[in-house]
Amino acid sequence: MLEPDRFWLDRNRGSDLLFDAFLKANRYPLRIKSGGMVRSKTLQADTQTPLWPIAQGLILGNDTAMLASSLVLGIETTCDETAAAVIERRSDGTGRILSNVVHSQTEEHAAFGGVVPEIAARAHVDLLDGIVGRAIKESGIGFAQLAAVAAAAGPGLIGGVIVGLTTAKAIAMVHDTPLIAVNHLEAHALTPRLTDALEFPYCLFLASGGHTQTVAVVGVGNYVRLGTTVDDAMGEAFDKVAKMLGLPYPGGPEVERTASGGDPNRFAFPRPMLGRADANFSLSGLKTAVRNEASRLMPLQPQDISDLCASFQAAVLESMADRLSVGLRLFQERFGPPHALVAAGGVAANQAIRGALQDVAAKAQTRLIIPPPALCTDNGAMIAWAGAERLALGLIDTMDAPPRARWLLDENAIAPAGFANTRAGF
Ligand code: ADP
Ligand code: MG
Repeated sequence: MLEPDRFWLDRNRGSDLLFDAFLKANRYPLRIKSGGMVRSKTLQADTQTPLWPIAQGLILGNDTAMLASSLVLGIETTCDETAAAVIERRSDGTGRILSNVVHSQTEEHAAFGGVVPEIAARAHVDLLDGIVGRAIKESGIGFAQLAAVAAAAGPGLIGGVIVGLTTAKAIAMVHDTPLIAVNHLEAHALTPRLTDALEFPYCLFLASGGHTQTVAVVGVGNYVRLGTTVDDAMGEAFDKVAKMLGLPYPGGPEVERTASGGDPNRFAFPRPMLGRADANFSLSGLKTAVRNEASRLMPLQPQDISDLCASFQAAVLESMADRLSVGLRLFQERFGPPHALVAAGGVAANQAIRGALQDVAAKAQTRLIIPPPALCTDNGAMIAWAGAERLALGLIDTMDAPPRARWLLDENAIAPAGFANTRAGF
């Protein structure tokens, strides 16, 4: 047992002292001296205690940890973006992007009409070194100044996840810096705290090529899934509709552009899940309806394609607005009024969808926040930011952190009845 009040950690002395102390003592009061301020707190070895931030001169308050300011490198390789960024998180919880380098592999996958996992993984291997180098160079800092290295450890295409996480581990080992294994969805969820200093709790609507979810963001590491797609993701549905109509890849923006010259009322496509009590989404039935209508009309004239796109988009909008309104109602019942409705993911780039989201937010008497496009789609800054948020709470990972193809943001989420074996089950 260490003598109370005799154990001081100087901000420049290493973490070894602290680890030794943890090995020797089960419970002791620890005083931390940093920048002339002294606070004390009783630490218990059996709780998840913020070791590294303390070692780096952290001042512990009552429940929250405050780091003077931390610089974090973030790496994103879960899908078809190879990205790295450096951000700063200040002690007041606000943030700043020092660099944000993104290479989108759209060209590598265009010929195949979709993301090819092996091509993506190989591209990440080829590109990541250079992209991390550029992110560090453009940030104007050196590796030695990093408080942590964060990588998206899933969910995503496993080859790419392994490339990013392994690179982060190597950097962490070489520079003796903590590693943070970030959930890619958590990074999307926390982005508005970087862009808009948004307070918890708020409601996230994430719609990308791989995910469509409504999530209550209650705190860092505290997420409650309110609704999810039971089959296709919204971006995936746009991409598949584009493909069946012969539009180029990536399909989402093409469908939006083509829809602008079309009649949204020509085809009465189904509005999936409309009026259901739960807040889940479904898109595959709608996609099939578009396919059936397109085969019936073959050969398609340009006006048919425009009308199919416009009618498809109208159905997506109506279904989304209904599903999201239910999600916001569930949010309100459990957590009170949200500080905002936040939209993220590539689909949030769609102007018609933005308009519908604005209406949904207004009806729920909350405001809509959509981070700028570069921070809505996959990027390294959001991974670095999520890493910094976790670091501030002492949530760091070991070198054993596994790459994960599947990783629920809300580990308590249960699949809706009848959908356990669908995407909603994951
Ligand atoms: P992913 O995790 O799939 O890489 P991103 O956040 O990069 O997700 O978003 C890509 C997805 O967003 C694609 O499915 C794309 O079709 C869709 N998307 C992009 N722009 C639009 C748009 N204007 N309308 C609809 N969908 C879009
Ligand atoms: Mg992408």
